[in-house]
Amino acid sequence: MSILQRYKVDLANASYFRESIKCQNACPVGTDACGYIRAIAHGDFERAYLTARGPNPLASICGRVCGAPCEVACRRRNIDQPVSVRALKRFATEDFTVKSGGFEPSELLRNVIDSTKWRSRLSSEDLAILAEAFDNRELHPPTGEKVAIIGSGPAGLAAGHDLALMGLRPTIYELEPIPAGMLALGIPEYRLPRDLIKAEIEVIKHLGVEIICNMEVGKDISFDEIRKAHAATVIAVGAKRSRNLSIPGHNGIGVLGGVDILRAVALNQPPPLSNRVVVIGGGNVAFDVSRTVIRQAGMDVSRTALRAAGVREVHLCSLESLEEMPADDVEIIEGNEEGVKLHPGLGPKEIHLDDGGHVQAVSFKRVLSVFDENGRFAPKFDENDITTIEADTVLWAIGQQADLSFLNPEKDGIKLTERGAIVIDPVMQQSSAPDVFVVGDVAHGVGLMIEAIASGKRVARSIHSFLRGAEFVAETSGRHAPLSRFAREKDYEKLKRRSAPSAPVEERMIGQNIEVEKTYSHQEARWEAARCLDCGVNTIFDSSKCLLCGGCVDVCPEGCLKIVSVSKLVADGETQAVLDRLCGDTPHEQASAIIKDEARCIRCAHCADRCPVGAITMEAFSFEGKWHAERIERATV
Ligand SMILES: Cc1cc2nc3c(=O)[nH]c(=O)nc-3n(C[C@H](O)[C@H](O)[C@H](O)COP(=O)(O)OP(=O)(O)OC[C@H]3O[C@@H](n4cnc5c(N)ncnc54)[C@H](O)[C@@H]3O)c2cc1C
Repeated sequence: MSILQRYKVDLANASYFRESIKCQNACPVGTDACGYIRAIAHGDFERAYLTARGPNPLASICGRVCGAPCEVACRRRNIDQPVSVRALKRFATEDFTVKSGGFEPSELLRNVIDSTKWRSRLSSEDLAILAEAFDNRELHPPTGEKVAIIGSGPAGLAAGHDLALMGLRPTIYELEPIPAGMLALGIPEYRLPRDLIKAEIEVIKHLGVEIICNMEVGKDISFDEIRKAHAATVIAVGAKRSRNLSIPGHNGIGVLGGVDILRAVALNQPPPLSNRVVVIGGGNVAFDVSRTVIRQAGMDVSRTALRAAGVREVHLCSLESLEEMPADDVEIIEGNEEGVKLHPGLGPKEIHLDDGGHVQAVSFKRVLSVFDENGRFAPKFDENDITTIEADTVLWAIGQQADLSFLNPEKDGIKLTERGAIVIDPVMQQSSAPDVFVVGDVAHGVGLMIEAIASGKRVARSIHSFLRGAEFVAETSGRHAPLSRFAREKDYEKLKRRSAPSAPVEERMIGQNIEVEKTYSHQEARWEAARCLDCGVNTIFDSSKCLLCGGCVDVCPEGCLKIVSVSKLVADGETQAVLDRLCGDTPHEQASAIIKDEARCIRCAHCADRCPVGAITMEAFSFEGKWHAERIERATV
């Protein structure tokens, strides 16, 4: 190591500790994943559920299908592989929603508030809203202004949930015969059981949210009528229209939108599909479409022996190479296991039709590259390298777009961008018409379900402040509580990641509703949960007690502690000012500091155990809103 080595240091203040909890920080609704995972590790499954449910009205659904940005951010990745956060969330929510009949809704929300007394990292706004919804132990039915929500997808449901808790009266208008948007009519049942969706919606309805199905705004009722009847209106219509490319033959008979097939299958009205299906796209939706179609074939075959001769082929053709495909690895692996034939690196050129206009085949150009040197989407093709796949059906799965045909922008006073999207204030999600708000995929583009939920929750706060002039923004402060008996599971740092178990292929193909992914047993869940590095627990150093003996540095198994001269530290303004203050008159060359590489700390507590003078304590970090009178702030160096 060079004698000139310098160390960039940050001050360990409340925002530093908060941002160190990577999973929670990455979650758009701020779920305390670390909190529920540690509760599972301790066998406290009810607390795990309440922690997961607190900020998220669709927690059990996220346990099945969330894109899980928390898992991507998990710090255990620095040691080996991230904790299986989503699968653990499924485990945490499993017993308290459908299986056991769950909690009675007001009991559930009351319990969420109570549970935060333990080690709360629930957002203070959520707590304020929940607390306001209760008087002693009673949930108030909403009596306030009426709010219309157009669309019952996750964004609309989350907005309705929080608006009702805040005392406003939301009504959701949904064009489909069943609520839940893409959760019910996009995501296949083999990934997301429908009784789970129904159970979550029952809780939302119980809070006072009215849901009216078979009501298309723009057809059964006009947008203008909706606005006149409500104090505020939320547009939550998602992106339902399948995108396609205007290549020759794109209007042929047998060319369909992938999401239209998913919807038809979900409503038990599958269209007759032929023997050879080409799906164009390389993302998760393309796999949902391919795997749904292949199951449909399996069902037809088992129902009608005569059809067994015509075994259906499903070809998934993507621009991207296998390594570049945006679909999750698990989709690629499971799709492959189920018989989806993958054709990476092909760009559609033409759909060939017979004299009657029916699809006969699709020809593709070989892709040379998909992205340019700046990582921008700019596909290049070899026009002479053509592959043709015979097919009777072509399904597009290259993205979706919103249908805003119910709007009359000029008359409604709603500004659109040049590309036809609604112009919104990014914080309030308010359109140019002050009473009209926009959420979810239609506001931010096609994204993850958890982003749509977060958008719905944010808009509920915006509408509350628009109608009531009162904001829920609560001042938060960090708090550390010493853990007197902090101990980790034996060899937790060596435990290998356990993915959730899955059904064998033969079992999966029996029907659309056969779950592919299973849940952990209690023991498996506790093992996987034991891998969590518990980033919400910190090593707090008391510089007034420290002897600088170096015992903590010697004992650290990850080598993340160092004692260095303060003169070797590089700090920005605020951190430098704290260093100067702590050094006082002592020249920086003569002062020492213990510094820690947070990325590698596994919270094993060996340093605290070794310290001869008790200068290091393991402490749980939480943040609180201002309605908690007590506030403890501790300086750490
Ligand atoms: C096939 C598929 C699979 C997906 N898988 C995942 C996944 O595994 N994990 C994940 O995190 N995300 C996934 N997503 C993305 C996720 O489903 C969406 O981001 C999310 O559903 C968007 O929520 P939303 O409420 O904005 O819109 P939507 O869920 O699309 O809901 C919009 C609702 O508005 C209704 N509506 C539209 N127009 C009108 C009108 N004029 N009048 C009345 N009602 C109207 C629609 O019928 C619909 O019910 C998937 C998406 C698709 C298409």
